[in-house]
Parts: sequence; C-alpha cells; structure tokens
Amino acid sequence: MPKSHSSKRAGKNDRKPSISALVRDIKKQLLSDLQSDPPISTAQLKTKYLGKQGMVTRAMKEIGAVAPEKRSEAGKELNTLKLWAEGQMSRVSETEKMRLDSGIASDDGFDVTAPFPPNTTGSERPGLEPKVGTLHPLTTVGEKAIRIFESMGFHLVEARRLDDDYNSFEALNIPKGHPARDLWDTFWTEDRLIPIPHTSAMQNRILSSVKPPIREIIVGKCFRNEATDASHEHTFYQLEGVYVDKNVTLTDLIGTLSHFMNAFYGRDIKYKIQPSYFPFVEPGLEFLIECLVCGQRGCPFCHYSKWVEVIPCGPIHPNVLRESGLNPDEYSGFAWGLGFDRLVILRNQISDIRLLHSGDLKFLEQFR
Ligand SMILES: [Zn+2]
Repeated sequence: MPKSHSSKRAGKNDRKPSISALVRDIKKQLLSDLQSDPPISTAQLKTKYLGKQGMVTRAMKEIGAVAPEKRSEAGKELNTLKLWAEGQMSRVSETEKMRLDSGIASDDGFDVTAPFPPNTTGSERPGLEPKVGTLHPLTTVGEKAIRIFESMGFHLVEARRLDDDYNSFEALNIPKGHPARDLWDTFWTEDRLIPIPHTSAMQNRILSSVKPPIREIIVGKCFRNEATDASHEHTFYQLEGVYVDKNVTLTDLIGTLSHFMNAFYGRDIKYKIQPSYFPFVEPGLEFLIECLVCGQRGCPFCHYSKWVEVIPCGPIHPNVLRESGLNPDEYSGFAWGLGFDRLVILRNQISDIRLLHSGDLKFLEQFR
C-alpha cells in the first residue's frame, strides 16, 4: 500500500497544513488507490481512510486546531470529504459483490460489465461456462425426412417464402372465389404476394420446367388462416413431394409414403388411407398413421380417434397437369404435403404442437 505523506504532515511537530490542502491530498491519494492494479479491497481502503487511525478520521480531528472563525467552513469541507470517501467505498464494494455473484474468484482482468462470460474459459478460471445451443427439433427432423426421400431418388427444391396468386392458387385448380381459399387466405403484400399457404406453390414451376420422369421434393415454411389447437398451428414446415411419369398409380403413392414412415420411425408403422378433398389432386386422400403420442389409446392430440392425419395426398389433378403443359392422357403422377411439425410431435410424444414455435427454452433444452 502506498505510504501516506499527508499523515506525516499531520505529525504533531510539523507545521499544520490547511484543512483544504489536507482534503486535496487525501482525495488525490484515495483516487490513486482506487485505480491500483491489482485492486485494493474495500476492507483495506476502509481501514486506511475511515478507520480509527484512518486518514479521513485523523483529518477530522484537526478541526480543533483551526481558527474559530474558519472552523465552520473547514467542518463542511471535511464532511464533504467523508461522504465522498464513503461513496467511493460502497461503489468498490458493489463491484466486488458482482464479481462474487458471477462466481469469479479472481480479480484479474475480469470485465463485470460484459453481457456474457468472456473471461471464464480455462480450468484456472472457474466460472460460468457459455451455454451451447443445439439444432431445433424441426431442423433435425426435416433433415432426416429429406435424406430418406433423397435415398428414394427425389431431388430437393426450396419453396419461396412469398409467392403470387397464380402459383399459390390459380395453377393448382383453385380459381378466384373457390371456398378452399378461405383457409389459405392470410396476408397479401401491396404487390399481391402472399406468405406461401403450401409448398404446392412450386408445383407449376416444377411441372412446367422439368421433363418427366419428375421426382422432386419441396421444403418450405407455410402459413395458414387457422384456429389453433393442440394439433393445428398457423405456421408450419411442409415437405411436398411431386412424382410424375407414365403409368403412375395410387399404389405407387401409398408404397412411397408407407416406406417413408417405416424408415423415419425405424419400424413398421400402421397406416390407413381415407378420402378427403384438395382441389389439386383427384381423388383427394389423407394418409393417416397410428397415434404415437398415446399408442392408440386415445388422447387430445389424435382427438381420441387413435389415428393422426399426417399426409394429405393424391394423384395430381388433370387440370394441374394440363396447366403445366403436360398431357394427362400420357402422364400421371401423385403429390403429397407432409408437415414436419407433426412428425416431431409424434416422434417425441409432445402433447401440443404450439410448443414447437413458442421459443420456450425450457421446452427446447429437452432436445439436447
Ligand atoms: Zn393419441
């Protein structure tokens, strides 16, 4: 600790310095101590300045030697000095507390104002380890699904995030005023683009630009005008498949999807097909699998039906083929739209699909 020259000046045989000079000296000394490297602890500073023999305490005692007419002024100066010194001590003590709260024992170069613990790597510096994130389950599941379809000969295409009326509806046999548009009608931009309601918005481009045989999968984030519940969400990821060749039958569609399901879950998955309606396929079908959340005992996710609709699908409507320049008498094909979100739910027995887009870290940390 640096030696105090002011305490020497205050020695009984020395000529007394003025209170103002004493105050200046003490301030200068304290400011220099506050910047000392390594830092001086609060306890040491308190002893040196505010303790019984501390510099401030001893300066206060000098008041008796001051001429009576100057005593009031000197008293004010000393009190101001004491308050200032106490303020500096409490600031230093706050900083020490923050260091302790951060779990850092060493004072050496630690930046307590950093928004993350940058100085804590290495075993010699115990402290907070930075949190390492992980891929979202939608990403891992999506990638797995893509790999399976690629192994079956499909080629991957990415959907647009916004698309126009023609590709989203008209080219898919959904003319203006068609009631099916209600579910898909969300927000239009000023230049008449819509967040894609389905990855089928890429179908016309693919059918009109790729020469058959066509084996494409399309992945994209889709948006619906949907009343949400445990198994429905307004935003979801879709993996669409488009297959066109000569003599393609419904059996090819069912075989492709059941093979995918078995490969995805690693065992034979029970499935069934039921009729449905989608304007761009004819007939419209639903590919359902056993509810893996409840093991077919019945639960809110499957609406107690024990089955879950996972893939709307069907043979491509002749109007859609014709619109793309393909002759429906020569070519036939099938298409499907698979929601990733449901695959994640079913694989992990999650009871509410809305958790996937919630951004809830407690939920996501389960997938480390
Ligand atoms: Zn269920």
